[in-house]
Amino acid sequence: MERRGRHRRYHNARAGSCGSTGAGRWPRITVAVTSAGLVLPGLGLAAPASASLAGSGADAGAWHCSAGAHTLAPPGSHLYPDTGNGGYTSLHTLVHLVYNATANQFLPGNGVTFTDRATQCLTSLSLDFERKSNNTKAGPDMTVQSVTVNGRPATFAFVQPTYPGDPHGQNDPNPAAHEASQTSPVGGPHHNPLPPACSPELASTKVPPNSLNGTQCPANKLVITPSAPVRSGSQFTVAVSYTGRPGVHNDGDGTTEGWFRAPDGGFVTTEPVGSEDWMPLNDFPAAKPTYNFSDTVTAGRAVIANGVLLSTKRNPASAEFPGGSVTWNWLSRAPIASYLVENSVGKYNLTERTADNGTQYYEAQDTGISAARRAKNRAIMNMQQNITEFESQFNGTFPFTSDGVVVGTPNASFEEEMQTMITFAGGRTNTDTLYHENMHQWWGDNVTESDYNLTFYKEGLATLAEFLYHARLAEDANGGPYSAKGQAAFQASLVKSFNQSYAAGGTFWTVAPSNPEPVGLFSGSSTYARPGIGYIALRQILGHVNFTQALEQLQRTYGGSHVTEPELEAVFQQWLPVPTSSCHARLQEFFTQWWDTAYPAGGHKHRPQLTGPGLAGPGFYNSHGGCS
Ligand SMILES: [Zn+2]
Repeated sequence: MERRGRHRRYHNARAGSCGSTGAGRWPRITVAVTSAGLVLPGLGLAAPASASLAGSGADAGAWHCSAGAHTLAPPGSHLYPDTGNGGYTSLHTLVHLVYNATANQFLPGNGVTFTDRATQCLTSLSLDFERKSNNTKAGPDMTVQSVTVNGRPATFAFVQPTYPGDPHGQNDPNPAAHEASQTSPVGGPHHNPLPPACSPELASTKVPPNSLNGTQCPANKLVITPSAPVRSGSQFTVAVSYTGRPGVHNDGDGTTEGWFRAPDGGFVTTEPVGSEDWMPLNDFPAAKPTYNFSDTVTAGRAVIANGVLLSTKRNPASAEFPGGSVTWNWLSRAPIASYLVENSVGKYNLTERTADNGTQYYEAQDTGISAARRAKNRAIMNMQQNITEFESQFNGTFPFTSDGVVVGTPNASFEEEMQTMITFAGGRTNTDTLYHENMHQWWGDNVTESDYNLTFYKEGLATLAEFLYHARLAEDANGGPYSAKGQAAFQASLVKSFNQSYAAGGTFWTVAPSNPEPVGLFSGSSTYARPGIGYIALRQILGHVNFTQALEQLQRTYGGSHVTEPELEAVFQQWLPVPTSSCHARLQEFFTQWWDTAYPAGGHKHRPQLTGPGLAGPGFYNSHGGCS
């Protein structure tokens, strides 16, 4: 994600091919749509799945059945501790919207079907779904009509979240166990010593960030009780039917994300938690099911989603759609993290182009954007293949079979790396941000952070992509990538980027990147510039070839899944060129300084004291190239 207006813009990028991408990791498959629903060859999934309910009575007792956890956040967390759901693994999600784009309403028949695998015997399980909000204007107003588990009716209820790790259990009757806060403990007017159960939903960016600390969390946990327990290890389906108006989520920093109303439909951009404002889901980055979208919408509207477009079909006039409707089918065989699910609907002009290596590039723009502006946007979007090939030199093969951009008209406060379909808000694109969001396709999308605390890891690499872009401009201005002068200019630009930010004082170093509060998660230097220049230092410490080897190994090892901070550090340690115990210890100290330390304000002495060869600061190796 990148907040608007944080960066200078560069309009003079040059086209030119550097390297090439190989075939994507996820082979294309065909999907048959039958009267029984979508059938997914190769995934081993069909909807509905065969029933796998556990037996009742004595059998159920023998499996020690219990309720699934209502959170995936670690104990004590103060970053969206309300999100995620335990007791099962999310495998596949079929989104089946029935959407009146004129009225901005989900109609009867609208719903989502989840295919999950139980990791325990479940008496109940939960999803995240903010069906109503205090934001009565742009927030959601939806109603759940019914829930089934393996095709059988299930009961459901909405409950408040409970702080992760509550020893009294997730039905703790103590109201203090269900309070919002930016911080842990909650604090607030009643000095609640417990951790928060959710992050505050601030009404605007003008509201004091801590003003909701100590208030009750909304009941956004959808708890589903099947007619009989779900056996541990079994694959099962949950279908949720719902109607009403999707909307936006008010975040802990006062901005909004989710389903933005557009004049002719909706524009979906959702980081970090706004997906639950238009669909129920397991709303946690590490939960990554594959996706099918089969949306029926008002005739004349396009659906823009993740993956590849399989088909569109016009439907005759009906009671719900007197002017007719159209059904769009998209498929993402690659798993998608919770905040990267794209499903915009509107009057989009969609084009599709297949590159030489088979990667499909989509470009979608709202037709309400002026023709002149659309032409400018198109010129930038047309660079995406070139940018992808440039970034592949550092990251390895592009991980998906498709890539794309959708430009919507609503004024969201940020652009976002939706998987294979980057969102630009406000009707405009820019090149700097396209480098940033496209880099996320490897970092955040293919290799996802294990929880919100690790947001800096992928934002730092996306910020590095902007530094690499500036370096590329300098290289092109000095003879190009195949000249010694161009290569020197490339490196000098990266050194300059490092040295400029490393000199920062003020509050630049005062938040540990791995321990932010919701209010600063997507605006602070701790999430963007600090980890961004930290990667430049790491590239100098490891050497340029080894740094790329480490990035490629991370893609190979964790692609399609998620990564933790110790796992990241271990891979970079493997590519340390001086593998002595003292150098390994120093690199560990480097990570502690750059990722995990909050310094007093001011900079200078109060900033990381390990940098890298050729950079400002004390460097890393001693005069003999060692670390003792
Ligand atoms: Zn970003």
